[in-house]
Amino acid sequence: MKILVINSGSSSIKFQLLDMARESVLASGLVERIGEPQGLVKCILKPGTEKEHVVKKTQAIKDHTSGMRLAVEMLSDKDQGVIADKRDVSAVGHRVVHGGEDFHEPTVITAEVLAAIEKNIPLAPLHNPANMDGIRVAQELFAGVVQVAVFDTAFHQTIPPHAYHYALPYELYEKERIRRYGFHGTSHKFVAGECAKAMGRSLEELNLITIHLGNGCSMTAVENGKSVDTTLGLTPLEGLVMGTRSGDVDPAIHAFLARNCHMDIEAIDRLLNKDSGLKGLCGLNDMRDIHAAIAAGNERAKLALAVQTYRNKKYVGAFMAVLGRVDAIIFTAGIGENDGVVRTMSLQGLEPFGISLDREANTQRMTKPTLISQAESRTQVWVIPTNEELAIAREIKVVLSR
Ligand code: ADP
Repeated sequence: MKILVINSGSSSIKFQLLDMARESVLASGLVERIGEPQGLVKCILKPGTEKEHVVKKTQAIKDHTSGMRLAVEMLSDKDQGVIADKRDVSAVGHRVVHGGEDFHEPTVITAEVLAAIEKNIPLAPLHNPANMDGIRVAQELFAGVVQVAVFDTAFHQTIPPHAYHYALPYELYEKERIRRYGFHGTSHKFVAGECAKAMGRSLEELNLITIHLGNGCSMTAVENGKSVDTTLGLTPLEGLVMGTRSGDVDPAIHAFLARNCHMDIEAIDRLLNKDSGLKGLCGLNDMRDIHAAIAAGNERAKLALAVQTYRNKKYVGAFMAVLGRVDAIIFTAGIGENDGVVRTMSLQGLEPFGISLDREANTQRMTKPTLISQAESRTQVWVIPTNEELAIAREIKVVLSR
């Protein structure tokens, strides 16, 4: 069974073709800088095998349709390609960022489903239109193939009202659906499941704290396998300190900036989403650059690392209070999987709460689920590599089997 997974952004499309019989990747690629004078399509065919073959094309890519068309040409190449006939593809899966309150699980895309995704555009004005572009292109290029939407928000639909409501006038929830939704759901769900497997336990009996630290960062409290709270809210800005996003700030900052710095709402939105976080504090948003800068004596870089890891620790404490018993804490994504210093600082001083890292285990290179806590640690600590494409493809396989 071949499943094509598409993650369509405003000016880029990531895609991966998986063979679900073996859960292996047949091809993965990227269409970049759509709409700019010079775009790029890159595709790695049969990665990790003797027949691995990389194809690249640089040219203007007018829109998502032309970008995806180029990608499909590469996938279907007569000699090197991995799709002989489009009907070999059992389904196309789409990552959709905001499902609002409409979607609790992966959903076969119909006209009604597209309309519901469109209705949720005000909740994710940058993401949902781009996701819809990806769906429309795929419907055209893979006519007759089942299209399935997998929502970033779906896993968090089990969060109870006392955790998802903001203390705002109730009418804003009723009329505008302003509440906390949470994101990165596919990743949190995937690593929770993989951790249960690695622990040899059933997910339904585990309480976990999953920490996704990439460019975007979020943490989820998982109770008996279900999300009961998460740090991202109405939009992917709340909570942890991210690469360029502030995470939690005093909500009065908007009014302060407007009155005292004469910024309009667009400028404030940009400031909090694009120019804050690690980048705002030290000018760098890649954690590897931050470590290099710290080694060179850069005090601001040191501060940025301290602010991020302190916020992580504060939320670990909060979610321990939410869960009561925590069986495991999981680190994942670019920083979470690779950065032992961030992991150490994020859990520093939590030994009295039953969390003790194994220093040696924590510093090794990890490409598979790895236990990094000491044997006597009451709460285990794991590094679990995330794989959102595989997670989406697995969800789709379940939908197809129904
Ligand atoms: P995204 O949220 O875009 O999917 P990733 O999960 O790929 O992002 O994470 C990207 C971040 O991971 C980079 O900004 C970088 O800071 C961090 N990262 C990647 N590799 C390492 C590493 N070896 N050490 C520390 N940080 C790393």
